[in-house]
Amino acid sequence: MVDVAPGRVLVVDDNQVNIDLLESVLESRNFEVLVAFNGSAALRVVQEETPEIILLDINMPKMDGFEVCRRLKANPETSDIPVIFISAKDDTEDIVKAFDVGGVDYITKPFKSREVIARVEGQLHAFRQTEQIRRLREREKQQFAMLDQMRQQFIGSATHDLKNPLFNIAGYTSVLETIPAVSEDEEAVMCIGAIKRGVDKMQSLVYDMLDLLELERGIVLNVFDVDFPDFVRESILDFGLNAQEKHIEYRIHVPDEAVPATFDKNRMARVLENLVSNAIKYTPNGGYVEVNAQQFGDMLGVEVIDNGLGIPDDMLGKLFIPFERVRSVEHMAQEGNGLGLSVVKAIVEQHGGRIEVESVLGEGSVFRVYWPRYQ
Ligand code: ADP
Repeated sequence: MVDVAPGRVLVVDDNQVNIDLLESVLESRNFEVLVAFNGSAALRVVQEETPEIILLDINMPKMDGFEVCRRLKANPETSDIPVIFISAKDDTEDIVKAFDVGGVDYITKPFKSREVIARVEGQLHAFRQTEQIRRLREREKQQFAMLDQMRQQFIGSATHDLKNPLFNIAGYTSVLETIPAVSEDEEAVMCIGAIKRGVDKMQSLVYDMLDLLELERGIVLNVFDVDFPDFVRESILDFGLNAQEKHIEYRIHVPDEAVPATFDKNRMARVLENLVSNAIKYTPNGGYVEVNAQQFGDMLGVEVIDNGLGIPDDMLGKLFIPFERVRSVEHMAQEGNGLGLSVVKAIVEQHGGRIEVESVLGEGSVFRVYWPRYQ
């Protein structure tokens, strides 16, 4: 038998002899015994004294044990207290009903002391373990929420504090560039170029992190009336130049007819920009990138296909986690901070849509986004 520390038991029975008997059995194990002679008294005692476990007679006048149990289970404050039914006989109907209304066990009369103790202590042990697990989970949840809040505050203030100095550096660098002593000095021009590239990188990191924070907190979408084919073309047309530089064949297919829609066009444009710029970035010279935009009833979809580096299977599920990148030499040779796809996923999900990826390492990738046509 498990060693259980004694607790507080409520015994509910309209028969004094039964009560006396159970009281003496339980007190012999140092339990504190509370007593109620009918259903309504039992409900009152439960509220006032909060017993850990209840022994409840089924057959009582006015309110029977089943009804008492139903009411206890209907009240969130008392629903967790385990109820062991006391049945006059080994009646299958009664026993089934006892479990139906939320009882955890039953004992039959005449009582056998050892059985009463074993059942009460067994249930009390299980109840305490469940309670302990529930409290631990609750504590873990609180700690997680606290850590997450600290993380958000930390990223928020760190990135916010970086924004202004970076803006200043970018501004002063542009001023420096215009000074003849600098613009006429080859080495100085090279240094300015390096500073600008560094600042650009830091700025995009800071802006992506701030964006992600904002999205995690739940943004309000700025919804516009949009023509879907126009929107796709306009969002990603400029990438033609980047593609040309790498001799990448770049094709865009959009529906021929107008497709009126409403969504946050600025944010969805960032989604398409990110996917297309990744496709071009991670596709070697001479490859191809294709964008297909389609309307399926009340859903819009865009797929971005490339025949570039591809993504290993074990990374497919991780790409949307902030800072996750494929760590191969070829992938890492490209500039990136691993935040773009996290931002993409957050924006698509804020629109009630989803993102999917299929890829074969060394052969290429397909990223697909779908979102509702009307927000
Ligand atoms: P990054 O700024 O590093 O490009 P993203 O969050 O946009 O960050 O993408 C995460 C990672 O997913 C990238 O670092 C890259 O390893 C991989 N990835 C994204 N798009 C592609 C693609 N079209 N082909 C191959 N790998 C890709």
